[in-house]
Amino acid sequence: MRSLLLGGLLLGGAHAAPRVGQHDGYTRLVFDLPATTTASSRVAGQSVTVTLGAPLKAEQGPLSASGVTAYAVAGRTVTVTLAKGHSSAKVSVLPAGAGQPARLVIDVPSSAAASAVPARPAARTPAPAPVVRPAGTSVVRPRVVLDPGHGGVDPGAVSRWVKEEDVTLDVALRTRAELLRHGVDVILTRDTDEHLSADKKRDLAARSGMANNGVVSAFVSIHVNSASPSAQGIETYYFGQPLAGGNRSLAVLENGGGSVGLELTRQASGTAQKELGDILAQAKIAFSRQLAQKVQARLIAATGAVNRGVQTDAFYVIKNPTTPAILVEVGFGSSPVEGPKLASAAYREVLAQALARAILDFLNTK
Ligand SMILES: [Zn+2]
Repeated sequence: MRSLLLGGLLLGGAHAAPRVGQHDGYTRLVFDLPATTTASSRVAGQSVTVTLGAPLKAEQGPLSASGVTAYAVAGRTVTVTLAKGHSSAKVSVLPAGAGQPARLVIDVPSSAAASAVPARPAARTPAPAPVVRPAGTSVVRPRVVLDPGHGGVDPGAVSRWVKEEDVTLDVALRTRAELLRHGVDVILTRDTDEHLSADKKRDLAARSGMANNGVVSAFVSIHVNSASPSAQGIETYYFGQPLAGGNRSLAVLENGGGSVGLELTRQASGTAQKELGDILAQAKIAFSRQLAQKVQARLIAATGAVNRGVQTDAFYVIKNPTTPAILVEVGFGSSPVEGPKLASAAYREVLAQALARAILDFLNTK
């Protein structure tokens, strides 16, 4: 070990041992890379194996952090051995930038959520959101999907100050601009006033399907709330059962309203129930919760709006992505306090900046 490390230092290259960070709900391993490179990953049994497009110095050693026990680097292959009961990881490559080298990041859920449920035959199940880069890609950029809610035949919630479809699109466009400035690729589910299908179920499925198209690190659906005039504040959701006594009518509304919304919410709730026992779904949910917490905290800090917290509900549009997925309600268009703010471009820019910063934090990008 010592001689290998010394050899690495003498050669002047980046050494292979990862930096280990213990975070709320997961352990993060960061390997410095000599250059931005391609990577593909798979999880089989208790090992995460990442194949890089360029070699690293050979090195191996034990790891003492939750969820992981050892790492080994040999040529273009990085292997991390997971602790007993763990069988999932999120792998990504971050490009060099802002004084930082390119990095291979491996996040392993450390919570009981990922390890308490009975392990399934892991060899047949992929890691959540595995990053598989197409061969020949020389620059790897993280990619996210932004979903401006509603549009076209469906204006969403309409008040005397704003139409939901207009606010969600403008916030998404502004968020995209900021993310692009930081080297993050953005896919918009729509970039104009349009629907993806006049059929609500198809429309929502087409939106969430974009999160599974290629390598996507996060899916963020943007909405504007509506209720009685006294209601105000910001709330962020990840997928799950609504909390007891929760606002079920919101999921019904965002799922299309009326009998369609009721049916889609019923279907999505069934999925939420099944996912409680699914180890991979639980890992995705753990990452979604982290993303939701970052988004909610940044939005509240930036706006001073009422903090309605991070919640779970059966929104159809965030049911399917294998990627961390959230739905954020950036304010109440129906509120005499927030409606006029949402109508202001300056306020929408504040929302977009906060949203972009939270996503960059989540991606571990400067
Ligand atoms: Zn909406």
